[in-house]
Amino acid sequence: MKINNDYNVPILMYHSIGVPRKDWNWNYLTCPFEKFEEQLKAIKDLGLKTISLSELYDYMVLKKKLSEAVIVITFDDGYADIWSYAYPLLKKYNMCGTVFINPEFVDPREELNPLYCCDGHTAGVPTSGFLSWKEIQKMDVERVVYSESHALTHTWYPVSEEIIDFRHPNDEYKWMTWNAHEGLKHSLQIENFELVKLGQPVYKNEKSLLKRRMYQDESLDAFLVDFVCKNGGHDFFQRENYRVTLYEQVELYRSNNSTQVSFESEINYHERIKHELLTSKVILEEKLDRKITFLCWPGGSATKVGMEIARDLGYNFFNSARDMKIEERNSIKNVLGGGDRVKRFTPIIYFNGKEDFDSKIIFANSMWMKFYFYRYTKKPLSKYWFKVIRLLANFYYKRKFK
Ligand SMILES: [Zn+2]
Repeated sequence: MKINNDYNVPILMYHSIGVPRKDWNWNYLTCPFEKFEEQLKAIKDLGLKTISLSELYDYMVLKKKLSEAVIVITFDDGYADIWSYAYPLLKKYNMCGTVFINPEFVDPREELNPLYCCDGHTAGVPTSGFLSWKEIQKMDVERVVYSESHALTHTWYPVSEEIIDFRHPNDEYKWMTWNAHEGLKHSLQIENFELVKLGQPVYKNEKSLLKRRMYQDESLDAFLVDFVCKNGGHDFFQRENYRVTLYEQVELYRSNNSTQVSFESEINYHERIKHELLTSKVILEEKLDRKITFLCWPGGSATKVGMEIARDLGYNFFNSARDMKIEERNSIKNVLGGGDRVKRFTPIIYFNGKEDFDSKIIFANSMWMKFYFYRYTKKPLSKYWFKVIRLLANFYYKRKFK
């Protein structure tokens, strides 16, 4: 397909590819493998070539012209199914993608996981967990799935003394388990309930790179965990007013004890950002034996300072993130000379916006992939068509899911 210099390269953003799991609270992030294959077929039918992020850098920053229409496929977080499902499917269609890795989540196992045979049978193919270094290396060497940095921890930290909740059965504060067991993160995609400290206060929190962190009062933690333990443990949470009871215990504790929280200094915060970005880069470069220059900010957690630090460390290409105003982010075009920030989208038809077990999401079929592509690349009119069709689809699925 012939293209112009204003060709806006579509960049697809996925997380997990495979079989959505009922026991994972972020299971809406899993694009069913059948849909993924349909989408790859549509990409092929459209005559699009998949390229790496370094080739995209050449186009957007170094202004090297493209000779044909291309597309970029990306996967965040390094889930194990990128090896099991995305890798064999990309290979089947002779395509490539890029996965963003958090070294702290990489599985230390030595053996390679079983692969999906692209025949519809999924028995024995893992549906959870994280990639191992061997898998990451093999996919990168074969130029099927390249790796780039997604920083180090991909976690959250408390940022204020305000207690917003308490750890309770089936809660959504997995990051607290991660922080308490850093070495086990690769095994904690699905919560390990034995590691949850029931009753532990949950403070107002933020993505790790966004704000100065607070170190919480461990003696208050211990006090509340002990209180829950002595009052039924798991069963304590059957009480309708358990939160009220726990807030009362917090008051009681605070009236008899001085609080022990401390806040990170501005300098230490900057050092921590530097540590995350540099460690991730160094580990990946050592494992893959090549330069890592793309940083995908986890959850868009860039700040002005964070961007400065990242550039100083040698990153030169980034996703659009929270350091930019919404209008600024929306106006990004992945075009020739378009700059060092890229805009991505997830190919979905419908999403009810709930980021938990209750999420309803429909990933794009091949017809939608074609719509997406036309919106990106064709005359302005298709943009409006797309909006109309999207509204109708939203209306339809909203009713359907009621
Ligand atoms: Zn992520």
